[in-house]
Amino acid sequence: MAMQQREVGVRDFVLLEQITMDKFMENLKKRFHSGSIYTYIGEVCVSMNPYRQINIYGPETIKIYKGRELFENPPHIYAIADAAYKILKQRHQDTCILISGESGAGKTEASKIIMKYIAAITNVHGQNEIERVKNVLIQSNSILETFGNAKTNRNDNSSRFGKYMDIEFDYKGDPVGGIITNYLLEKSRVVQQQSGERNFHCFYQLLRGASDMELHRYDLIKDTSRYHYMNQGSMDALSEKSDYKSTNIAFKTLGFTNEEVQTIWSTIAAILHLGNIEFQSNEDDLTISNKTHLQSASNLLQVTENELSNSLTKRTIAAGGNVMLKEHDATQAEYGKDALAKAIYDRLFTWVISRINRAILFRGTKNQARFNSVIGVLDIYGFEIFDSNSFEQFCINYCNEKLQQLFIELVLKQEQEEYQREGIEWTNIEYFNNKIICDLIEQPHKGMIAIMDEACLSVGKVNDETLLGAMDKNLSTHPHYSSRQLKPIDKELQHRVDFRITHYAGDVIYNINGFIEKNKDTLYQDFKRLLHHSKNVNLSEMWPEGAQDIKKTTKRPLTAGTLFQRSMIDLVNTLLKKEPFYVRCIKPNDIKSATVFDDDRVQHQVRYLGLLENVRVRRAGFVHRQRYDKFLLRYKMISQYTWPNFHAGSDKDGVRVLIEEKGFGNDVKYGHTKVFIRSPNTLFTLEQQRNEM
Ligand code: ATP
Ligand code: MG
Repeated sequence: MAMQQREVGVRDFVLLEQITMDKFMENLKKRFHSGSIYTYIGEVCVSMNPYRQINIYGPETIKIYKGRELFENPPHIYAIADAAYKILKQRHQDTCILISGESGAGKTEASKIIMKYIAAITNVHGQNEIERVKNVLIQSNSILETFGNAKTNRNDNSSRFGKYMDIEFDYKGDPVGGIITNYLLEKSRVVQQQSGERNFHCFYQLLRGASDMELHRYDLIKDTSRYHYMNQGSMDALSEKSDYKSTNIAFKTLGFTNEEVQTIWSTIAAILHLGNIEFQSNEDDLTISNKTHLQSASNLLQVTENELSNSLTKRTIAAGGNVMLKEHDATQAEYGKDALAKAIYDRLFTWVISRINRAILFRGTKNQARFNSVIGVLDIYGFEIFDSNSFEQFCINYCNEKLQQLFIELVLKQEQEEYQREGIEWTNIEYFNNKIICDLIEQPHKGMIAIMDEACLSVGKVNDETLLGAMDKNLSTHPHYSSRQLKPIDKELQHRVDFRITHYAGDVIYNINGFIEKNKDTLYQDFKRLLHHSKNVNLSEMWPEGAQDIKKTTKRPLTAGTLFQRSMIDLVNTLLKKEPFYVRCIKPNDIKSATVFDDDRVQHQVRYLGLLENVRVRRAGFVHRQRYDKFLLRYKMISQYTWPNFHAGSDKDGVRVLIEEKGFGNDVKYGHTKVFIRSPNTLFTLEQQRNEM
């Protein structure tokens, strides 16, 4: 039964009388203030962050949406989840739900709501194994957030990594497995936090949640201000989303062994000790002045104090078959130490995810379990513009360009192309195609990533400024690129180290300082060997390349930029194979308020998400299309001319007769192979009549 509720504004933007920014905003605002946070554009769900708990996710609501069509109930993210699930169940086709929006817009919450819904509507027979899988899927979120999320100035629980999760279903439609893929963790946060921000949640959970006895085991004290890696930004206690205890419960549910859990917390503790290690350089000697932390770190990492101290103060150089030790200067040692802390954390994070994946046991849709299908859920960092933007923002914003490109391909372009293919009369709707920006970044040989790689690989003196010079030289004519070196009069670009990319979502000024280092992502070989030889087998397993013989010249590892680009290309290819659904998240204001609707901020998001163009394409288009044979099969019982069968011509003729009899002639266009229906009401009436038969 359809939910009876007074509707505020229109539930689908295509129903607006005029498609203008003003009308769009008016509708969004009205609905936000009345707590209707979801609004459709066809099958795209626009979601406003309410910044308060609304009672719309309970079991009663789930019942209302289960198995229903989108247009039968008020807009809800449940309806999107159900639509994706229906396709999977009925057609055994893979689907995906792409959640986008900027930091704090509600992507992670949306992804959890979707998973909760799927868990609620499946496994009606209560099978143990399926219950287990569902539990693991839900609990994995709390672990991911503990290690991958942090308080930022935009969001107290900001995801600092990208997450794509495939949930795998058997042919009956029950979840039997899953796999999580993670993308680029912002590991620089481990060693450095901006004012007002924090390190990853796990550090605070450990210090504030562990018992005195446990802390003693880690040589830690409760006071966060004593640790350099925790005292640079904010040290606020949050009402932690998942505290130490529930993280440990989640580890248990997921089948982590005690040793594995021990490894994880010991490693976190070791990182804190590393952060407090200081170097002192005398004439020609570098020493570690804070020996107790060195001792604790080496104990926790299960390496000898001597080994750790050596790898922090010297590096091995292999040249022409000879091996030498070279002493670091203080800067190199500081750099090495931070690089080590970051790398340990990054490896640990990936390792934790691999352990979670082992617990969910993805069977693979293609080989072992041929009839299984997946729903993919993508929750990845939104577009970022900070006061100072670096390599991390460059990668994150590139990722958003790729996803916007996918949206354009799938929602704006293909839709219009289908009308043309089907011979439906159509005037093209203009939209900004951001392919040009994707090319600027990723084109082979010519794009920014290629130029950065070239700079990183070349021997000789290349620094960030020469890299900027190389970019200027190659990209100066590109309409989406400019730099201070190029245009000194450009007011926005204030420093010679600035360059600007005009992204689809706005202009971002990047500071070139650190790009080469971050792209190279160097970690001295000595550290890899050190950790590979740790007595802790779990830790050792995270560093397989440390087994390599020192004298062998190692191939240069791929740069961070190239690795990221490859992972993005893989991601897009995965998504392209699936039928997509979109959730477009919007944040109403920057102050986490439940009542403030900041017109400028919202309008900016509406604009760059391309929502107005989306409505135009959708509105000029048709809400529903179906092949003639399928349409007839579904609705033939409602017309005397087509029931039980239509004999007087083709399926197309049959559909025409049915439609005309019902008086929908004006709302319908006939394509070469499909019938196109303009308004949802027509479809609704057809469905109703069918149900009444
Ligand atoms: P980031 O890119 O920084 O990870 P995000 O888009 O994932 O941001 P969330 O963490 O999902 O943002 O949301 C930020 C906060 O907004 C949540 O912690 C919660 O307080 C609030 N919020 C988001 N969605 C909802 C919702 N549907 N109901 C209630 N509160 C919400
Ligand atoms: Mg998030």
